Amino acid sequence: MSFCYEPAKNLDEEPIVMPKLTHPRYSNRSGWNAMLPSRIPRPSVNSDQQVDYAIVGAGYTGLAVARRLHEIDPQARITVIEATTIGEGSSGRNSGFFSTDVLTRYGAAQSASMSAETSLAQTKLMKEAFAWLRATVVDNSIECGMQQTGAIRSAASDAGEAYVRRVKKVVEARNLPHTVLGREAIRDGTGADYYQYGLWLHNDWVIQPAMLIRGLADTLPESIVLYENSPVRNMHRDRTGWGLLTDGGLICARTVVLANNGYKLGYLKSRMTTIFTYAAITEAVSEDDIGFLGQWPTWGMVPAHRAGTTTRRITRDRLMVRSLHSLTEIPNATVERQLRERFVRRWPGLRHVSFEHVWGGAISFTNNAAPWWGQIEDGLYASTGCNGSGIIKCTMLGRRLAEIIRRIGHPDEVTSAMGVANWMVPDPFRTIGFHIISAMESRKAGLES
Ligand SMILES: Cc1cc2nc3c(=O)[nH]c(=O)nc-3n(C[C@H](O)[C@H](O)[C@H](O)COP(=O)(O)OP(=O)(O)OC[C@H]3O[C@@H](n4cnc5c(N)ncnc54)[C@H](O)[C@@H]3O)c2cc1C
Repeated sequence: MSFCYEPAKNLDEEPIVMPKLTHPRYSNRSGWNAMLPSRIPRPSVNSDQQVDYAIVGAGYTGLAVARRLHEIDPQARITVIEATTIGEGSSGRNSGFFSTDVLTRYGAAQSASMSAETSLAQTKLMKEAFAWLRATVVDNSIECGMQQTGAIRSAASDAGEAYVRRVKKVVEARNLPHTVLGREAIRDGTGADYYQYGLWLHNDWVIQPAMLIRGLADTLPESIVLYENSPVRNMHRDRTGWGLLTDGGLICARTVVLANNGYKLGYLKSRMTTIFTYAAITEAVSEDDIGFLGQWPTWGMVPAHRAGTTTRRITRDRLMVRSLHSLTEIPNATVERQLRERFVRRWPGLRHVSFEHVWGGAISFTNNAAPWWGQIEDGLYASTGCNGSGIIKCTMLGRRLAEIIRRIGHPDEVTSAMGVANWMVPDPFRTIGFHIISAMESRKAGLES
C-alpha cells in the first residue's frame, strides 16, 4: 500500500499542518434519534489506509457526495469519516421541514434582494435534488416518515401577519397551492389559540430526520466505507495528496471533501461561523389531553420571524418545539426553561406536560446566507454554510459537488443561483456583532419567539 506521505508519529512536528478541525461534542442526544431503536454504529477507523476520495462528515452533504461519486465512478474507493454516530449530527437533530419552492424567508429586505430569476434557479436545483433523494428513499425502502403535510407560516403578531401576507403575494405570483388560515382554523387544527394568521403551503414536506439520515447511511452501496466515532483531528498535505488524522489511523486520499457543516473549518474561518439552535420533544400526552393538540393528525408551523419558534405535531400524542440561537452551546437547564416558556405560551392547557428530550444542534451561518461551496485548493473541496436549512439544500450541494469533482457540469450553475459566502468580520467583532444582532432580532421577533 502506498501512502500519500510517510505518516508521522507526532503530527505536531509536521511542517505543513493545516488549521485543526474540531468536531461536535453535544451535551444531549438528538431526541429524534433517542426515540428510535438502538443502532449498531459502523466501526471506527482502525488502520492507516489509502483511498481515492475521503469525505469528512456523514450528514446530508457528505452522504450525497459519497453516493453521487459512486454513481459516477462505481470503482472509486470512497470513505466517509464521521466524528459521532449516524443520527447524532445535525442531520439527525433538525426539525424535519423541507420545501423545494425557494421563497424569500425574511421579509421585504431580502425579498427585494432575491430576484425572481434567482429564486426560480434555486427552486430548479432543489427540485432536482429532491427527485434524487426521493428516488433513493423509495429505491432503498427507507422509512423516514416523508410526507407532504404542508407547513403553516404562522403569525402571532401584526408584524408577523404583515410578513406572512408578503409571503402570500410571492406564493400567489408563483401560483403555488396554499390556504389562508384565520385564528379559529389554526386553533381548531393545532390546539394553539395563539396565532392570528397563517399561510398553509401545501407543497412543503416533513420527515423524521434521524430516520432519514440513518436510512441513507445504512443503505450506502457496499463499496463506500463509512467510519463512525472517528473525528478527523488534523489534516496534512504533500505533493501527492491529503492525510486525515484520526485516533485510529491515517486516511490518505488524493481528493478530500469537507462536509462537516462549518465545524470550524480552518480554511473558511473568514466566511462562516458555527451557531447552535435548540429543540425539544414532549412526553406522550395522555388520552385526556389529546384534544389540546388540535384536530389535524399532523401539522407543522414555521414562524413569521427568523428568531421565532417552530412547532410540529410529530406523532398522535407528541409535539416538537424548536427555538433559540447561540454561539456556544447553552446549558441544558436554560434551554429547557426557555423552550418550556414558549411551549406553555402556545399550549397553556399542556403546562403539566414534560419534555422527554431536549437538545441543541450546530448550523453553519454565513454573512449573506449563501453557502461556501466548491474547490478550496488542489484536491480539497468543501460544501458548508447551510444557514439553518439543509435537508434538500445540502443534498443538492453535496450531489452537485461530486459532479464538479468529476468534471461534470460547471460550478457557475450552482454558485450563480446560490451565491457564495462573503467575508465575515473576525473575532472579537464577530462575537460582538452576533450578540447585538441576536438581541435585536429577538426583540423584533416578539410574540413569534
Ligand atoms: C435544531 C435544528 C433544526 C433544524 N431544522 C431544519 C429544518 O427543519 N429543515 C432543514 O432543512 N434544516 C434544518 N436544520 C439544518 C440542518 O440540520 C442542516 O442544514 C443540515 O444538517 C446540514 O447538513 P450537513 O451534512 O451539511 O451537516 P451535518 O448534518 O452537521 O453533518 C456534518 C457531519 O460532520 C461531522 N463532523 C464534524 N466535524 C467532523 C470531524 N472533524 N471529523 C469527522 N466528522 C466531523 C458531524 O458530526 C456531522 O455528523 C436544523 C438544524 C438544527 C440544529
